[in-house]
This record gives sequence, C-alpha cells and structure tokens, in this order.
Amino acid sequence: MSLWEDILKLEKEQCLKIGKKFDEISWGNLNEQSQIDCINELADFLVDRMKIKKKPKIELGKLQNDYGAYLPESNKIYINKDTLAVGGTLTAVTLAHELRHAYQFQIIHEVESLKWTKLYKTNLRQRLDYFISNPNNDPVQLWKENYKKYYNDGPEYEEQPLEFDAFRYERKFLEKFFTE
Ligand SMILES: [Zn+2]
Repeated sequence: MSLWEDILKLEKEQCLKIGKKFDEISWGNLNEQSQIDCINELADFLVDRMKIKKKPKIELGKLQNDYGAYLPESNKIYINKDTLAVGGTLTAVTLAHELRHAYQFQIIHEVESLKWTKLYKTNLRQRLDYFISNPNNDPVQLWKENYKKYYNDGPEYEEQPLEFDAFRYERKFLEKFFTE
C-alpha cells in the first residue's frame, strides 16, 4: 500500500468514526448538550478540511420551514431544534450543507478582494492569485449573482447555483461519512 492510500484510508476511517456519532441509535441516546458537542466536533473537522478561515457561530433556534440556515452578514449558522429531533443524519447533513454556504461566501470575498489589487498587478499575477484562492474553479460569479437574486422556495430553489453546489456537497459528505 502506498503512503497516499494510507492517508486516504485514515481520513476515511476518521470520517466514519465521526459519522457514527450521528447514526440514529447513538444519536437518540444523547442529551441535547452531547448532541451540541457532536455538532461542534463535526463543524471543527469540516471547517479545517474545507479551509474555512473564520468558523461560523453555530446556534440552535426555531426556523419556520428550514432545517438550517447560513447568514453571511454575521457568519452564523442556525440549526433548527426540530432538525435535531428528527435525527442525527439529517442534523449532520444540514450542518455540512450550511458550512458549504460559509465556504462559498469566503471564496466570493477572496476573489472580490483580489480585484482591489488590479491596479498594480500584472494580468498573469492576477490570474495566479485567482487560482490560488480558487483552486476548484468554483463558479464565484454565478454565486455572487445568485446571492443578489436568491429564491427562498419554489421550483428554482434547488437549481440555483448556491443551492445546487451545496446539495452536491451534501451528497459527497453522505458518501464519505456514512457509507463504509
Ligand atoms: Zn442552502
């Protein structure tokens, strides 16, 4: 086994170990404080792996129709208390989804702030900076426009760029943390 396979395997085992805490049987036996501890442990892990520089503040609350929400202005994640009651997997997936939104806004800001340097940087240098801050070629422009014209519900909701990307991240998260 190569060194890299070793590292990947270790990471996978670590993900599954964290995922196990959210599986329905163990989750149901936890009191609220222990559930909050699990949420924060998973959040720390994902914030580190997603390279989110400022960890969003996570609060439990009552939301009308949503499992969770991300507020870019205050860098806060709300998780609906009812989501915790529905189950651990839903709670974990909701957290991953909202953290992905935090990541999207960090990338938007990074690319935005690069624009300020354009007066004295060469084109090549700018493009290099862009790819350094934006290694996955995320559709930053689309995200930015979507934020200005965001659909809270309706048929457009899941198809708009910010949500399309967050749901795609959810699926990857489920695979990594809950599938052996
Ligand atoms: Zn969302």
